[in-house]
Amino acid sequence: MSAGIIGPMPHDHAERLARARGQAELAGLGAIVVAPGPDLMYLTGYGPPPLERLTALVVRPGTDPILLVPTLERPRAAASPAEDLVGFVTWSDGESMHASLGKLLPERGTIGVIDQMWAWHLMELERELPAATFVSAARTLSRLRIRKDAGELELLARAGRAADETFARVAKEDFAGRAEEQIAARLRELLVEEGCDAASFWIVASGPNGASPHHEPSIRILQAGDPAVLDFGGTVGGYGSDLSRTVSVGEPSAEVREVHDVVRRAQEAAFHAVRPGVRAQDIDHAARHVIEEAGFGAAFIHRTGHGIGLEAHEEPYIVRGNEEVLEPGMCFSIEPGIYLKGRFGVRIEDIVAVTEDSAVRLNEAPRELTLVA
Ligand code: ZN
Ligand code: ZN
Ligand code: ZN
Repeated sequence: MSAGIIGPMPHDHAERLARARGQAELAGLGAIVVAPGPDLMYLTGYGPPPLERLTALVVRPGTDPILLVPTLERPRAAASPAEDLVGFVTWSDGESMHASLGKLLPERGTIGVIDQMWAWHLMELERELPAATFVSAARTLSRLRIRKDAGELELLARAGRAADETFARVAKEDFAGRAEEQIAARLRELLVEEGCDAASFWIVASGPNGASPHHEPSIRILQAGDPAVLDFGGTVGGYGSDLSRTVSVGEPSAEVREVHDVVRRAQEAAFHAVRPGVRAQDIDHAARHVIEEAGFGAAFIHRTGHGIGLEAHEEPYIVRGNEEVLEPGMCFSIEPGIYLKGRFGVRIEDIVAVTEDSAVRLNEAPRELTLVA
């Protein structure tokens, strides 16, 4: 992704930068240092890879934002929306990049740094500015990104539709006799055919492998009677999808049907609990309660969900202990699962968006147990 105008409407980076400056001021930070990653992309539309050569955006209350870039990456930055948004300072190979960054920052006071800046860059920066105190700016910046605007919601919806269509198409193909990694390769192809810029992940976990939520697709050949967890997604304009469905190769056992039904009811209960004003942990509880009542509590070995946007996992996390109050525009997964070691697993996952009074799903692939050939 290179341009700012990628969705149905261009992202308003100038407004985002202004909000970031406001947040820095509110948090009492003399500056925020943003290294390459989703925060830099969100604020400026510039997405270079994180490298040993330092790139960093400096957001300071009372001044215009400045992007420090290596001289050889200056043309790359010029091709991004950042060109019209920020001032540029370059450093060349052989110069001290950390001293260059230090000069753009206040000598003392508190400086916020994003969590995804390499520890090495931060440690060198601390040596440059011994009188300054460095703190995490993760919370400050995640406040900006946690509520999606209309343009972001449209991209998330498009990514969701591509995942739904991918599921519809793969479910028409033969599963029996193919290896997990062959089906995973098809998921990757179909996601792109259905409109994703790139596939992001492609879990196919059949039979006993289904008991591992993050199973790596293997050479295991699927056979009649296997349940299989499919969990995949891709990005549209940088925004991701994340869909899980569990299928059965031919007739499922009564036990697979029962477990699938419990997970489906848990997913449904959690979805219906979503509305502005409830806490993230209430959604986790709604799903977990159904699974516990059915006697499978110990087999639900992860949180109920995670936020999604420029990152596949971001705030808000739908987990016990998270008292974050849901607000319109928040987007996250609801993905309860039951994992029976050595036997099989079931997971059902949709992305949902909080609306003014309830929620909408961004996935409509059928949630019943789908029988495949
Ligand atoms: Zn996961
Ligand atoms: Zn997933
Ligand atoms: Zn997920």
